[in-house]
Amino acid sequence: RGEITLGEFAERLGVNSGELIKKLFLKGQMLTINSPVSYELAEELALDYDVLVEKEEEIELEFGEKFDLEINDKASDLVERPPVITIMGHVDHGKTSLLDAIRTTTVAEGEAGGITQKIGAYQIVKNGKKITFVDTPGHEAFTDMRARGAQVTDIAILVVAADDGVMPQTIEALAHAKAANVPILVAINKMDKPEANPMRVKQELMEHGLVSVEWGGDTEFVEVSAKQRINLDTLLDTILITAEILELKANPNKRAKGIVLESRLDPKVGPIADVLIQEGTLKIGDVIVAGETHGKVRALLNDKAERVERADLSQPVEIIGFNEVPSAGDVIYVIQNEQHAKRIVEEVAKERKIAEVSRRTISLESLSQELE
Ligand code: GDP
Ligand code: MG
Repeated sequence: RGEITLGEFAERLGVNSGELIKKLFLKGQMLTINSPVSYELAEELALDYDVLVEKEEEIELEFGEKFDLEINDKASDLVERPPVITIMGHVDHGKTSLLDAIRTTTVAEGEAGGITQKIGAYQIVKNGKKITFVDTPGHEAFTDMRARGAQVTDIAILVVAADDGVMPQTIEALAHAKAANVPILVAINKMDKPEANPMRVKQELMEHGLVSVEWGGDTEFVEVSAKQRINLDTLLDTILITAEILELKANPNKRAKGIVLESRLDPKVGPIADVLIQEGTLKIGDVIVAGETHGKVRALLNDKAERVERADLSQPVEIIGFNEVPSAGDVIYVIQNEQHAKRIVEEVAKERKIAEVSRRTISLESLSQELE
């Protein structure tokens, strides 16, 4: 994405790449000919050759606005919607175990939640209220989707193993959640282990600005064990309390809008998209667009792989009916009719192509002009 390697950069700059590598090495930076060069670094390096680097123009296509697909809601149209939760944390601290433990302990309570998880997200019921969990590997929920202006998460749960403490990916996850301006709950996991030291976790996180409520801060820490299923109820209650404070609302009575979490091509069924519904209600037969693809909803499957007639607010659902595979992070919109959908998709494809070409020429032109 607009990134160039050191080798390519040296070529555009008209200098020997070995020279740049040596220069960087002397500054304590180990780069190879294939290393990506950040804008900041390019700027710094180019200055040594009296070349100004210009930032490539970001051409972001907000097609929802462009095609007038965003309908403004009246306050009276809004209803409470379930919170969408992402679990983040260092590898092996128990993210998957926690997601599994939450799903299986709550299956008994309501009809939502299930044993087979087909979609990269699932919903449970706690005290009669739904909670959606998005199972995104790593930090993709934040980085990829946020880069497209979409936000999938209402609350982030930061999992830290009580026997291991704060680790590099803990801090990385924290940074992403902070950048997204999402409230953070800390789950101190593996409390069943004899060497568990929750105090240390709290102290370490305090150094990163997360101060526990009992210490006068505003971050909720819940001590759990995914393995022994300890305190999961408290964790879920804390999620519900946090959600209540956020007053999450949306309009269920309009054409649906959602975000593609995952997608794939099934050899028998065709393109399949796992989507999180963010506004409105999606129904069988709805005409849909997402990025450069369109279609008509032929079948909807819930998180238990059961066929459903519609998908509600904050519900994860599998959509069958796209004519091509949309990309994860694409926003999906329901459109009045197929003709309109086709027109939008053609326009989007055309604009994306133009954006792509002009992006290339802008960067080449700006560099060549400066080199003259
Ligand atoms: P992830 O990489 O964050 O998804 O971590 P996993 O859920 O895969 O867990 C990593 C390891 O920690 C596995 O061997 C789990 O069995 C173990 N584990 C997870 N939660 C607990 C817990 O609460 N207690 C103990 N003792 N082990 C746990
Ligand atoms: Mg995992």
